[in-house]
Amino acid sequence: NQPLSEVDPEIAAVLEQELGRQRNTLEMIASENFAPRAVLQAQGSVLTNKYAEGYPGRRYYGGCEYVDVAENLAIERVKTLFGSAFANVQPHSGASANAAALSAMIKPGDKILGLSLAHGGHLTHGMKLNFSGKLYEVAAYEVDPETFRVDMAKLRAQAIAEKPDVIIAGWSAYPRQLDFAEFRSIADEVGALLWVDMAHFAGLVAAGLHPNPVPYADVVTSTVHKTLAGPRSGLILTNSPELAKKINSNVFPGHQGGPLMHAIAGKAVAFKIAAGEEFRERQVRTLEGARILAERLVASDVTDAGISVLTGGTDVHLVLVDLRNSELDGKQAEDLLHEIGITVNRNSVPFDPRPPMVTSGLRIGTPALATRGFDAVAFTEVAEIIASALIAGPGADIAALSARVEKLAGAFPLYAELEQW
Ligand code: PLP
Repeated sequence: NQPLSEVDPEIAAVLEQELGRQRNTLEMIASENFAPRAVLQAQGSVLTNKYAEGYPGRRYYGGCEYVDVAENLAIERVKTLFGSAFANVQPHSGASANAAALSAMIKPGDKILGLSLAHGGHLTHGMKLNFSGKLYEVAAYEVDPETFRVDMAKLRAQAIAEKPDVIIAGWSAYPRQLDFAEFRSIADEVGALLWVDMAHFAGLVAAGLHPNPVPYADVVTSTVHKTLAGPRSGLILTNSPELAKKINSNVFPGHQGGPLMHAIAGKAVAFKIAAGEEFRERQVRTLEGARILAERLVASDVTDAGISVLTGGTDVHLVLVDLRNSELDGKQAEDLLHEIGITVNRNSVPFDPRPPMVTSGLRIGTPALATRGFDAVAFTEVAEIIASALIAGPGADIAALSARVEKLAGAFPLYAELEQW
């Protein structure tokens, strides 16, 4: 039982280097966060050794008395956090949660209506190479070409014409809140189930800073590792006893075998943290940072360079930068920011003239920096650095901008208590 550095120095080096990268650069990928040390401890624990097929009190293996405690805590905490009657915390990932949720709601060949991938939807909402596109008939709605928002009147008309069995509200790249009450009303009108995928904004919901979809949706799914800042994994919520039964049997044995008990223990820890005041305050800074960034990127010196922000701002933790009229494409902009130490991802914008590997957009998120402690002053400096880089494009002063990034990274230490892995 030697330490990792002795057993496998190559992998130990990867961990060291990745820790260094996370510490020394500014992480602004909207779907990422820094799990607290307590979550990392739960995940890197002996619970990884335990088989626990089934559910607490109804397992197919002996020796589950302690992992049952962990799973029950995760279930009770997440139910309280989001106000749902039932919860399944076993999905290994967001995609696994969505696969199980869909199969609990409908059967292969039934129709789903979700936001198109090109307009900010997720792969699991009906993309043709994904299980969702292969198993189900897919109709997709798009954002309005003028406002770049979901037009609820158009969606209602489309739902009436398409008669979907499930309507999906949720997104991976959309800077505004969705109107869950209106989605509910449309679903009721056409006799569809409403599924909300809150993977991105679950942390904001937990903090009371975003409308909660649970009272409106038949089923709510989420990841735990984005704004919620827990272990990489998924969850499913419902208020319906019939759907709860179907969800449980569709997660196990429907889609998964043994649950990852170390991840479930990590979820329990993350849900406990998410119920606290420190977490709420962090989500407030997350939203503030995104607002500061959006405001900086709609100033005239930025728009003069042909760069703008989709919908003109944000209500959530991310900003979508529109580069359709800029000489800089999404790939070049991503690479440029990477060069100065800021990690973002290029992202197709709706009606994007450039191909998906190039794109005309950037998705920039603030959750990870907020977790690191960034406040309004620090986010203002980040926004200034990003604006300067994008305006200058290939002529950007890399050395000067990198120095400013380094200074910020130094001012907000990450995992300071971790000497090494
Ligand atoms: N749902 C949405 C809306 C997402 O944005 C994502 C991840 O990007 C997922 C589901 C899938 O999560 P995972 O990557 O854990 O499978």
